[in-house]
Parts: sequence; C-alpha cells; structure tokens
Amino acid sequence: SRKLLMIPGPIEFENDVLQCMATPTPSHVDPDFIATFSNTLKLLKEVCRSPSGQVFIVAGTGTFAMDMAAANLIESGDKALVVSTGYFGLRFAEILKRYGAEVDVLEAEVGDIVPMDRIEQQLQSKTYKLLAFTHVDTSTAVLNDAKRIGALGKKHGVLTVLDGVCSVAGEDIRQDDWNIDVVLTASQKAVGVPPGLALLVASKNAIQAFEQRKSPVANYYGDWANWLPIMKAYENKQASYFGTPPVNLIMALEKSLQNIVKEGLDQRFDRHQRAGKAMRAALKAIGLEVLSKNEDIASNTLSAPYYPSQIDPSSFLQGVNKEGIVLAGGLLPELKSKYFRIGHMGSVNKSDLLGTIGAIETVLKNSGHKHELGSGTAAILKHF
Ligand code: PMP
Repeated sequence: SRKLLMIPGPIEFENDVLQCMATPTPSHVDPDFIATFSNTLKLLKEVCRSPSGQVFIVAGTGTFAMDMAAANLIESGDKALVVSTGYFGLRFAEILKRYGAEVDVLEAEVGDIVPMDRIEQQLQSKTYKLLAFTHVDTSTAVLNDAKRIGALGKKHGVLTVLDGVCSVAGEDIRQDDWNIDVVLTASQKAVGVPPGLALLVASKNAIQAFEQRKSPVANYYGDWANWLPIMKAYENKQASYFGTPPVNLIMALEKSLQNIVKEGLDQRFDRHQRAGKAMRAALKAIGLEVLSKNEDIASNTLSAPYYPSQIDPSSFLQGVNKEGIVLAGGLLPELKSKYFRIGHMGSVNKSDLLGTIGAIETVLKNSGHKHELGSGTAAILKHF
C-alpha cells in the first residue's frame, strides 16, 4: 500500500501538480505552453521575492543548479569562500574547485552555524569574488541567517550565493532585500514538484559578473550564454530553443507555484514554522535530541534527531516503514548511523506529523525505548 513520504525530498506532491505530469505533452513551442513557461518564470521571481532577478529553469537537479552557478560566476584563480554547515556546503566547495576557484571553507561544528564575526573576519582577510552558503543544510537541519550573510556579502562586495534546495518555498527568502546574488533550488522539495528541475534566480550583479568574464564558461549545457536568450524569449511570450525543456515538469511547476502564491508566502512560512516547532517539541517529548544546537538555527523544513543509544538504525527505519511512513537515514558520513532525518515541507499537514510521530513512538516503544506513549503526538496537537 502507499506509504507517506516524510523524507527531505522528494516529498508528497499535490494531486493537481501530479495531474500535470500525466497530461499529454504539448510541443515546447505550443502557444499555451509558452504562456505557461512565461508565467512560471514570473511566479518563481515572486516566490524568491526577487522582482529584479533573472530566472533560469533548466532540466537538472539541485546539484546542477550549484554547478551552473559556479560555472558561470567563477574563472580560474578566483577566490571563493564557502560557509559550510554540513554535507552540501562541502559539495559546493568541490564544485567551485572544478572551475578553478581557490576555495576557503569555514566549517561549522556539527549542528551549529559559523558565527557571523568569523565570516566577517574571513571576508576582511582577502578579496573574495564569491561567498556560498547553504540556507538549510539537509544533512544537519541547520538554518543559516540568510539576511545577515547577505548583508556581509554586500558590505564586502562579494557575490553571495544561497543554496536554497531545502529552503525555497519553505523558509522566508527575500532575495532583493537581503542582497542575495543567486538563489538556487530544485523542484522536489518545498517547491513541490517531482525531481528533475534545476531552478536559479540571478541578481543584476550576478548577470553583470557573468557578462564581464574573460574566459568562456567551461560547462556547455550550463552556460548562461546559451540559456539567457531562451529565458528572455519565453518571458516575452516567444518560443526559443536550446535544449528541449521538460514540458510536463514546467507545467507542474506552474501549478505548484500558483498553489504556493495562493496560500500566501507569509502563511506558508508560518505553516512550516509551526510544523518545525511541533516536530521538534514532539521529538523532545519522547526523549530524542536533534542535531541543531538551538531553536534559532533549527530549520523548519526538516528535523534531524539522534537515535536513542540502544536503537538499531536499519531496523528502526524498517519498522517505521512497516507503519506506513518513509523516513531518511543520516547523511553526514561521520554520524551516518547515529541519526535520522524527517522531512516536513510542502503540503505537510497536522495529520502527516501525527502519523509520523505516532509511527516513531510505536517503533521506539517496541524496541525498549522508555517514554510515555502518546507524549509526542500530544506535543504535535498542542501546536495546532
Ligand atoms: N543542496 C541541498 C541543501 C540539498 O538538500 C540537496 C539535495 N538533497 C542538494 C543541494 C542537491 O540537490 P539534488 O539532489 O537535487 O542534486
């Protein structure tokens, strides 16, 4: 029978979004599809609160969006700073190095952020071209303060790149107001569309930096020179071709972004905050500690609790799966078997949270973990 997907992506998708995936595929130059693509580009700017942004919607994954940012903004010998809160920060450092960047990494302790004064000190120590950070690191469930990092980036004249794969449409982002030069994400998380789309919004500064490059972009598929005319054409309701767009995914994206805007961005972020708070309170009530060091830096799109010491990870995850809930294991190599991850983003609602914590409580109880059965579910109910 069907299981509830409570992993940090892919998530449960709305039916009207899934229906777009099952619609007969129109031509990518069909007038209706041109209107859809045009509207989708506009909607993504709205969700990132980036009225002056340039949107790129390209077939790929979040990793490709990271790759595209690095390929277009880095030239060999450029200095880049990565503020890392886990697995995806380190991935960004690797990608930047591929394009010849000299990369420094400021690594947070597990479950913590890098303090702002440490970032500032580093920015003062040399002239960086680019600063990259992960808004929500999916390996640690830590939330960075994007507004403050954006302000530091502006003060020091660097291009600030936000990896929002696990945050866009789930955590508040104001790209223009916060001076973020690139917001990048993928379709399969809080954006609410099956995997397969790389999404990126570039500031005027970022486009200008790209235009002032001296060397060609070393990635053919990701080269903005190839994609800019396409995006601009569709924005202006004209068809254009570089690579065949993933037509059904873009139709699904339009639907999901319409749903997001209809819910209201503030309402949506509040709903995620409530879900995050409720889940963390429930985990605490049953005696589980989370990786994120405190509430201020805890992400609302996923939680990352440690297993109680006597619990076997794979039998725990299998047990929860038998209860109908799919959870994810740990992702940090050094702590892989010590913690697990629960996604709570997109369409997530009270009954999803109740079902999830109910399954966790049941399996823990059966494995000899001591807690009062129902204390987790009660904590969820108190938040709604
Ligand atoms: N960055 C973050 C924060 C992520 O969570 C992920 C995916 N889990 C990625 C980048 C990479 O995205 P993808 O798996 O779609 O390539």
